[in-house]
Amino acid sequence: MTRFIDVPDLQRWLRQRGVAAVLVDLAAAIRQDFLRWEAFEKSPRVASHSPVGVIELMPACDGVLYGFKYVNGHPKNAREGKLTVMAFGLLAEVDTGYPLLLSEMTLTTALRTAATSALAAQAMARPGARCMALIGNGAQSEFQSLAFHALLGVDRIQAYDIDPAGTTRLQRNLAQVPGLRIEAMPSVEAAVADADIITTVTADKRQATILSDAMVPPGVHLNAVGGDCPGKTELDPAILTRARVVVEFAPQTRAEGEIQQMAADFPVTELWQVLAGQVPGRGSADEVTVFDSVGFALEDFSALRFLYEQAVAAGVGRDLALVPRLDDPRDLFSLVCAPGVALVGVA
Ligand code: NAD
Repeated sequence: MTRFIDVPDLQRWLRQRGVAAVLVDLAAAIRQDFLRWEAFEKSPRVASHSPVGVIELMPACDGVLYGFKYVNGHPKNAREGKLTVMAFGLLAEVDTGYPLLLSEMTLTTALRTAATSALAAQAMARPGARCMALIGNGAQSEFQSLAFHALLGVDRIQAYDIDPAGTTRLQRNLAQVPGLRIEAMPSVEAAVADADIITTVTADKRQATILSDAMVPPGVHLNAVGGDCPGKTELDPAILTRARVVVEFAPQTRAEGEIQQMAADFPVTELWQVLAGQVPGRGSADEVTVFDSVGFALEDFSALRFLYEQAVAAGVGRDLALVPRLDDPRDLFSLVCAPGVALVGVA
């Protein structure tokens, strides 16, 4: 049987476990898999672009398990009462090809994106970073805030969105988190002025300049999440020129990330190298560091693996008859024939 986790199943489990606790455990699972980088079959995601958005398939395999995610990115959806990003995914065993888990991945994408951002920031932000500017207060923003609070000890978020209702919702949703203060800021400039970390997580299908070079003081860590598609960026390229840039998987990020604005040989480090201690995440206290996040299939693989382990241990979700069960596997036709069943159709 295939385990099936739908949105209400995951919702119940997250409410029971606590989102912050799950973010911490998920970050550990993602770290474990990034440290096994060489074990994975990796490829950039397969994207189908339309004038209004993108639909993507994201596969990853470690030789034992195979996972993929179906995900969209439609900035205009928010204006139509729909999610900009929604997803579902599947985990299968390589030995038989049989699916182990079919799961919702909209919440899961927000969790894994935030956990990965915080993992990168742990290695790249200045020690003692406590104040984060958060530009773009949409669906991802609470998850980003909680991950930075739980994994880095960020206790002050300076939030800005072109739509003040987004910031109000963010404040309301996280009002009960002890030791986390969310301040609504009047502009990007005001939000970033004294921040140690700047997270950009806006949605617009174009080359936007959410942050100009002059807004970024020395020593800041940028967690650039919203630029994740060809033709969709958030940072002034001048910031990248003077920063240390870390990416998930360079072949994918060169097409989709902030560095699509740079030359094809622009120097970058991959996150696994930083997590493995091969390359430092930060060279000096004054250096500007950028995690150019686009979302990589390995993070979804980790999330699916983690969810499956939790599902089995805690009974999350239910079994789904996704694959036929047959006494004689060659007799697939037995599923549709029985005495009295019409095989040729009735008029
Ligand atoms: P969303 O539509 O729910 O929220 C986006 C927010 O950005 C909205 O509140 C909007 O008002 C705000 N915004 C737009 N332009 C702005 C600007 N110029 N200044 C300030 N705020 C602005 O979308 P979401 O689900 O939160 O996703 C945000 C972005 O993150 C999207 O671009 C999405 O594709 C990307 N994303 C990346 C990853 C990753 O792994 N890197 C994962 C998930 C989502």
